[in-house]
Amino acid sequence: MSQDRIASVEVDLHTVTTESGRAIPYDVLLLALGARAVAALPGAVTFRGPEDERALVAVLAEARAGHPRIAFAIPSGTTWPLPLYELALLTRWHLSESLVQGAAVTLVTPESSPLGLFGHLASEEIGELLAIRGVDVRLDSSPVAFEDGALHLLRGGVVEADAVVALPRLEGIPIPGISANAQGFVETDRYGGVLGVDDVYAVGDMTAFPLKRGGIATQQADAAASAIAVRAGAPIAQEPFRPVIRGLLLTGGAAHYLRADPAGHESASTSSLSGGHRRRSWGATSRPISPNGWASRRHRSTSRTSPACTSTSSSSTTRAC
Ligand SMILES: Cc1cc2nc3c(=O)[nH]c(=O)nc-3n(C[C@H](O)[C@H](O)[C@H](O)COP(=O)(O)OP(=O)(O)OC[C@H]3O[C@@H](n4cnc5c(N)ncnc54)[C@H](O)[C@@H]3O)c2cc1C
Repeated sequence: MSQDRIASVEVDLHTVTTESGRAIPYDVLLLALGARAVAALPGAVTFRGPEDERALVAVLAEARAGHPRIAFAIPSGTTWPLPLYELALLTRWHLSESLVQGAAVTLVTPESSPLGLFGHLASEEIGELLAIRGVDVRLDSSPVAFEDGALHLLRGGVVEADAVVALPRLEGIPIPGISANAQGFVETDRYGGVLGVDDVYAVGDMTAFPLKRGGIATQQADAAASAIAVRAGAPIAQEPFRPVIRGLLLTGGAAHYLRADPAGHESASTSSLSGGHRRRSWGATSRPISPNGWASRRHRSTSRTSPACTSTSSSSTTRAC
């Protein structure tokens, strides 16, 4: 193992040059270099994860001290909106528990339905939950800047707020020798093979796959590992990347387990252990592959974690399973 950073890839020579100047030869190269999270909304607190916890704590302290209107804004181009839904729900819950007068929590999103990437059934329930909890949702709204107590929206209009918390936008990190698209992301095939280059694979946030998520990165890594193992002579079948999206939404009450299968061949079901063993199920679906039309399956549990879930982020508010 070499602890160093990649400076460039010389694809013709099949070598990687590191920042310390070493040239490392390879037969097959797998890149998993992530992406850069950049602030996307001027004037807002950007929430990237644990490193921004302190700023979030300050926003909550200000709210308790008499500035109780908080907007959570999802900038267009954000590919994983779930953390902001959690923050909005948990913040509303926190302000209620703290008996803050005049508390107002607004979620501003370019999505046309709440968490629409999990399909319309899951989205409807999340919408109901947000309404019951008193989170005001502004759909089809792209936030552009926060200034002097006003969150400005792309098509005009403002949301008045004392503070705005926004998700970052991700950009690819350029690696000399590896071509990327306009956003800096690397195009790959179903096995993670980098298009137009021999013997180089890429997985995770650095790829052009639109959803940037740890669970997706590991599924891509499985596909690349199978392809590389087959090349090395392993007697196994090559397994292409078949994305399945999972999320656990913490709400301050019952957690929601969300699952979306882009292939659309799975049935969807919802059950609530907190609501008198309510159970709903839907038949097989055959929806097209589209971020707003994916089939979904959901399970609600009274517990904050599910046995099938493990934390992949040290963030106190988000977990994957
Ligand atoms: C607020 C928030 C909450 C999230 N919560 C979840 C969640 O609950 N569950 C989930 O699954 N996903 C979550 N995600 C997404 C998840 O963090 C990413 O999708 C995942 O970490 C991507 O993994 P990766 O390996 O592609 O990149 P990374 O995890 O970013 O790892 C890339 C690594 O490569 C290193 N690197 C970069 N450049 C170089 C170089 N030139 N040479 C050598 N090394 C380099 C970096 O230092 C880093 O260690 C969340 C994201 C955000 C913003």
